[in-house]
Amino acid sequence: MRYRSTRSEQPTHSLSEAMSAGLAPDGGLFVPERLPQELPRMPESVDAQPAADRVAHALRTLTPFFTGDVLQPQLEDIVAEAFSFELPLRFIEPQTALLELFLGPTAAFKDVGARFLASCLSRLNADASKPLTILVATSGDTGGAVASAFWKRPGVEVFVLYPKGRVSKRQELQLTTWGENIRAFEVEGDFDDCQRLVKAAFQDQRWRQAKRLSSANSINIGRLLPQMVYYVIASHRAQAHWGQSPNFVVPTGNLGNALACVLAKRIGAPIGHIHMATNRNDAVVRYLRDGAVEPQPAQATLANAMDVSAPSNLERLQHHEPNLESLRSFVSASAVNDAQIRAQIEQWGAKDVLLCPHTACGMHARAELQPEPTVVVATAHPAKFEQVVEPLVQKAVPLPASLEAISTRTGRCETIAPALEAFSKAAL
Ligand SMILES: *Cc1c(COP(=O)(O)O)cnc(C)c1O
Repeated sequence: MRYRSTRSEQPTHSLSEAMSAGLAPDGGLFVPERLPQELPRMPESVDAQPAADRVAHALRTLTPFFTGDVLQPQLEDIVAEAFSFELPLRFIEPQTALLELFLGPTAAFKDVGARFLASCLSRLNADASKPLTILVATSGDTGGAVASAFWKRPGVEVFVLYPKGRVSKRQELQLTTWGENIRAFEVEGDFDDCQRLVKAAFQDQRWRQAKRLSSANSINIGRLLPQMVYYVIASHRAQAHWGQSPNFVVPTGNLGNALACVLAKRIGAPIGHIHMATNRNDAVVRYLRDGAVEPQPAQATLANAMDVSAPSNLERLQHHEPNLESLRSFVSASAVNDAQIRAQIEQWGAKDVLLCPHTACGMHARAELQPEPTVVVATAHPAKFEQVVEPLVQKAVPLPASLEAISTRTGRCETIAPALEAFSKAAL
């Protein structure tokens, strides 16, 4: 299997090359030259969830995408590392289940993609004379998942940049308590300043001579592919439970998670209708309605990991589903506002089902859909957003063990002015 840019016809890259590059040289996103058609049949034991089953499903799903790649012989070890935590399906109503993707080290679904990419890039660089330096600008969540995933991995180092005073205490601990090959830079500015510094470093002669630079943001194909695996597993389990293919509702920001669901369906997973639930940043809703997206500034919402005005994976969705009519035949989308998010958290909290604000968007959308068997994707643990959730449910949200472990550690970061000179002086 070869990979090409969404902006070119030529399959120029192997998967390893595409993962190492991140973005295609022409500014497009990497996509496989074709989608494998027949998903191999799944084993019957989809009810229990031992690690060996997850690995088996992951291998079946991902092997066609790794065919001919230098990493193919190591794929079994890679998926064992990436899928080391459970992905439970929790049936909360006769026709509704939550797919809980937040049992990883930083308690959000991004752990799956980040850990998979880390496993791949570390293997590709373990013997290099100079480590690969991954630059990440983060507004909170992504940086933690990436730092945790790459921690202590040979052949790679991570520089995380985050805006001083603009991430929550818990998020800050997830960025700053690692040490070893992870360095945290607190930037005296906002998230845009952090992104600007990363871009400037990539273009700077001194940085390019001193470091081998790469990125691990969510447009990397190495984060997208493994996300298909949990849709394959969950759709089979839900089908076994309900006796029919389930619909999915996916909380959506940059469109990575929902696109993985679309691709899982395309390669043969038993998935019915797919609904994308955005917060008030409704670019995807407008795209499905109008076939185009007029740019609008991002609005701050309670579901802040989905505060995205221009979803970068839209270019991939258009590549895989160029015909809007056929896309609309199995995909829909709706926007959810903060009052509706609060109402869902409160309502379900009363039934002892704790939702993070992103999952609450999904649950609101689900309530307005047909009463058919539906899986709603739970993207983060509610304890990550305790300032929102606790006042609404009027009780403390217990910390998962992974976040508990971090909460007693002390963080360390380097504070820098929002200028490349300052970043270079501290980092090079
Ligand atoms: C990143 C994130 C999302 C949005 O996922 P996309 O792949 O960007 O659409 C939703 N919920 C949480 C908790 C996230 O961290």
